[in-house]
Amino acid sequence: MIRHMVNLKERSYPICITTSFDDFGKTFLSLRTGKKLLIVTDENVDKYYSDICSKELENNGFEVSRHVLAPGEQHKNLEAVYGIYQQLVEYKFDRTDTLVALGGGVVGDITGFAAATYMRGINFVQVPTTLLSQADSSVGGKTGVDFNGHKNVIGAFYQPKLVFINVNTIKTLPKREVSAGLAEVIKHGLILDEEYCYYINENAEKIFNYDENVLQYLAKKNCAIKGSVVEEDEKENELRAILNFGHTIGHAVETVQNFSLLHGECVSIGIAGAFRLSLYLGAVNEAAVENVKKMLLKLELPVSLPGLDVEKVYSHIFYDKKVKDNKLKFVLPRRIGEVFQCNIEDSELIKKVLFDLSK
Ligand code: NAD
Ligand code: MG
Repeated sequence: MIRHMVNLKERSYPICITTSFDDFGKTFLSLRTGKKLLIVTDENVDKYYSDICSKELENNGFEVSRHVLAPGEQHKNLEAVYGIYQQLVEYKFDRTDTLVALGGGVVGDITGFAAATYMRGINFVQVPTTLLSQADSSVGGKTGVDFNGHKNVIGAFYQPKLVFINVNTIKTLPKREVSAGLAEVIKHGLILDEEYCYYINENAEKIFNYDENVLQYLAKKNCAIKGSVVEEDEKENELRAILNFGHTIGHAVETVQNFSLLHGECVSIGIAGAFRLSLYLGAVNEAAVENVKKMLLKLELPVSLPGLDVEKVYSHIFYDKKVKDNKLKFVLPRRIGEVFQCNIEDSELIKKVLFDLSK
């Protein structure tokens, strides 16, 4: 088992990376929590992994109950959180007890928010089962739900006590979801680690064949990169914003397409857009732009969206949380493995990029 610590003083926690649930109970015991656990999962994940996790935990003396959510972003709302509160009250959970999020980013975000707010905060453990959640959402402590059609507007920063990653859980994930997760994976390389990008590119086939060693290495690198950014800037005052690379255009595309594309697919289009924007500004060279495009395509990710409505995407970019004083803040590449943040006021330039992406 690989162990990586995220160092946030009294909120520090370990990320355990492994290939089964064998040591889950033992690892949990070391947290010294109360005996009661509620596993929150969704219908898709429940049928594969709830029983094995419950058994592991019960064998180590825990009292385990389960709460199964309807799957999908459309259920990431306050109603889902109410359901969890009801069960916690009914089972008389106190602050020593623990909520376990078993699932992808949707389950993790909902459960984390419930944990942050029930009795002003109870123990929370993440067991991410999608590549996106293993690489990204389970680390860093952002929790929350959507509200009135606005994504992630209700939420809290709340760190887990443990992240337990069994990399083999992604074997049951639809392949399209694996590719979408890879967009956030390669994003980590593009912002901070050039060599990691080349590693992902060279091992693409092994990733799609679920090579355990490669998957564990990816998990370790992602957690180390994201963890290091969060350690420096837990609440996104400055540096953490680089994790939004590809997301300014990506979020707008996601909304305009009515969430018919997966988040990672939109991030991939957004990354291609950020490279083009940087090229027009003279900050990155053409070879890097082409190189990144090839890497994304190899991961079976889109780099454009024919027919994209440029005006609609442009106006949505302005609704993005990253807009301050009507200036658009972009994270742009200087080269593969290094980014910088800058305000862009030239609306025609942004439209030119969006037009490129629409071809
Ligand atoms: P998801 O949780 O919706 O999972 C994708 C689909 O795969 C779902 O249908 C789910 O039921 C299914 N699934 C999950 N694990 C499975 C498995 N092992 N086998 C079979 N099916 C499985 O989506 P996601 O991509 O994991 O996460 C997206 C969410 O994460 C978004 O809501 C996004 O806002 C959030 N997010 C949060 C952060 C953060 O820092 N908190 C970061 C990035 C994304
Ligand atoms: Mg993202």
